[in-house]
Amino acid sequence: MAIGTKERTVLRDEITSQGYAWEYIDEWQPKTTLYRHCDQLSQDGTVVSPAGTALRNMPGNPDFVSKKAKIGLFAWKPSEACTCRWCNERNSQAPKEEPEQEVEEPTFSGTATEVLTQMGKTKKGNRKMGPHFTGRGTNESGFLQSDS
Ligand SMILES: [Zn+2]
Repeated sequence: MAIGTKERTVLRDEITSQGYAWEYIDEWQPKTTLYRHCDQLSQDGTVVSPAGTALRNMPGNPDFVSKKAKIGLFAWKPSEACTCRWCNERNSQAPKEEPEQEVEEPTFSGTATEVLTQMGKTKKGNRKMGPHFTGRGTNESGFLQSDS
């Protein structure tokens, strides 16, 4: 499809303002990969296609990518260097520091009996505890042998 010089200029202005290279109007490929720069939400607000999703085999012609740029699809991945409004928004919101990771330590809780039971499960050799345990004269199960 041949386009006039005026349309071409207008289109080039548009796509360059959207972040595309000046040469894109001449060097575009018939098929390109577009990346989402904003989350696509369903009507109830759940993310159906998050930012960064690659859409392959999209038409690469300038008027098509220009239309898609208006809804957050670009031929490059979203990044901190990207100047589109969605990346700008995300970069200005994103905390610069990683949140501190909480280290989970094993804890015992509950009544004394429950704590002993929990400890017994984690510590070996602690199974002989009980009212009959004397430390000697026990059988394998840890209880006094019956002499009857
Ligand atoms: Zn972007």
